[in-house]
Amino acid sequence: MKHRKWIYVQKPQEYGAKCDKCGGPNIEWSEWERMIWRYDCQVDTEGRESIFDGPIPVMATELLGMSLARLYFKDNTIRYPHLRKHKTIYTKVKPDYMAEYKLREKNEHI
Ligand SMILES: [Zn+2]
Repeated sequence: MKHRKWIYVQKPQEYGAKCDKCGGPNIEWSEWERMIWRYDCQVDTEGRESIFDGPIPVMATELLGMSLARLYFKDNTIRYPHLRKHKTIYTKVKPDYMAEYKLREKNEHI
């Protein structure tokens, strides 16, 4: 297991994650990558039922009021996801999702 270099700014519960042992919501991001910490069970786990179980529609999550912004530990910055040629990159500047969406729509219809 590797130590995390970042965490999402929102709590795992806000993405629908639950403890996969007791089903409880009393969880936090683990110090380990891809894991959550379960307070009730006192153990790190992969969790279940979160949006990360499937492909993540970046713009859709933002429009639903859910943020995929990350807090990076090395420089204590918050970075936001952008779509670039079907890849997600993270920058310190918050994207304008509607402008990005319109641009994509326009480009896809050429
Ligand atoms: Zn539990």
